[in-house]
Amino acid sequence: LSVPNQPTIPYIIGDGVGVDISPAMIDIVDTAVLKAYDGEKKIEWQELAAGQEAFQTLGDYLPKETLTALTENLVAIKGPLMTPVGEGFRSLNVTLRQSFDLFANVRPITYFTGVESPVKHPEKVQMTVFRENTEDIYAGIEFESESPRALALIERLKTEFGIDKIRFDKTSAIGIKPVSPEGSKRLVRAAFEYAIANGKNRLTLVHKGNIMKFTEGGFKKWGYEVAQEYPTFTVNTFNQIKADEGLDAAIAAKEKALADGKIYVDDAIADNFLQQILIKPEQYQVVATLNLNGDYISDALAAQVGGIGISPGANINFETGHAIFEATHGTAPDIAGLGLANPSSLLLSSVMMLEFMGWLDAASLIKRALSKTIADGHTTRDLGGTLTTAEFTAAIIANF
Ligand code: NAD
Repeated sequence: LSVPNQPTIPYIIGDGVGVDISPAMIDIVDTAVLKAYDGEKKIEWQELAAGQEAFQTLGDYLPKETLTALTENLVAIKGPLMTPVGEGFRSLNVTLRQSFDLFANVRPITYFTGVESPVKHPEKVQMTVFRENTEDIYAGIEFESESPRALALIERLKTEFGIDKIRFDKTSAIGIKPVSPEGSKRLVRAAFEYAIANGKNRLTLVHKGNIMKFTEGGFKKWGYEVAQEYPTFTVNTFNQIKADEGLDAAIAAKEKALADGKIYVDDAIADNFLQQILIKPEQYQVVATLNLNGDYISDALAAQVGGIGISPGANINFETGHAIFEATHGTAPDIAGLGLANPSSLLLSSVMMLEFMGWLDAASLIKRALSKTIADGHTTRDLGGTLTTAEFTAAIIANF
């Protein structure tokens, strides 16, 4: 990505705690950029309207001007947005992801010393999840129970395809799960590129192909096809050597492959994978998976390292370079506007953004200062501390 020294970066403050965490993030990023580049680089922030306030003032949750600015600028960052509850509303987040075909939801999971965790060894959790963001059952192709469309679809499926499952009748609601080779492959490819760029040597394809053979099983099959494009050693090769020459030969071949810089690629069934990440998280590094699995897995991993309050995320189209970085938590209505929220999730998302832009010095400055602040026990209430958002922000800046 070619980034000028003074890029315009659109941002959406976000609903709820957005008013607390977005200004904190901007303060910290501006200070880090100034410190890292001595005034040579500077972000021109452009505030965009979206969410509840946009609806109240402009009558639109996602005004056209906002979409235009996001179209014109490849990189943007946003706070959480409240999804209006009611008929006919698509989540604003889903709308943004689909509008810009942001096919990869990237969620790095890192433990920060000092953060309380529900597991014994949170420091062993060091994973990055690549979740497919546009397809799967989340594509939003659903038909309500007893609606004319559901009825017509059920009728066709029954008569034309002979599908006659238990309780597959007019009272059934129907959801459609599209999974394409193109959609799966571009996601897995992005995960490989990440693994190579970050010196990771294990990539795991997570799926439920044992049950959903053509959708989830397709993802696994296409994932292994992508593996052929990269210097990899797959679990299939491992098993073949094991069958032909024995376990020791297979282990030796795998060790040699890793020493040669190849990536070990395997796959795991999602339910077993959710157990494994609790029992032996250290065995996984990069995870590529479909939309629904990825949603559960990334939140489960975030919980292990202390919660979504400190877990970042990004929605990226690695082909066009379009990327929206975001806090992974919601609008936290219980503490919104009270100045108590933890800005770390959005802040770490801004670190991902700076890394994406190639502004690595500013990114590592923030990461180091945040780690030190948390390790020193200077935290917001959600992490067991007593600091307000403003005090926590000042403590991070003081650690630059
Ligand atoms: P939530 O993440 O808003 O809150 C869950 C709990 O975590 C609350 O107790 C909250 O106080 C706490 N929390 C969240 N962020 C925090 C922070 N930065 N600092 C300290 N504590 C924090 O989840 P929810 O209550 O299920 O959702 C509320 C709203 O957020 C809903 O309208 C939902 O649609 C929306 N939402 C938006 C996004 C997004 O924009 N990406 C994601 C999830 C939910």
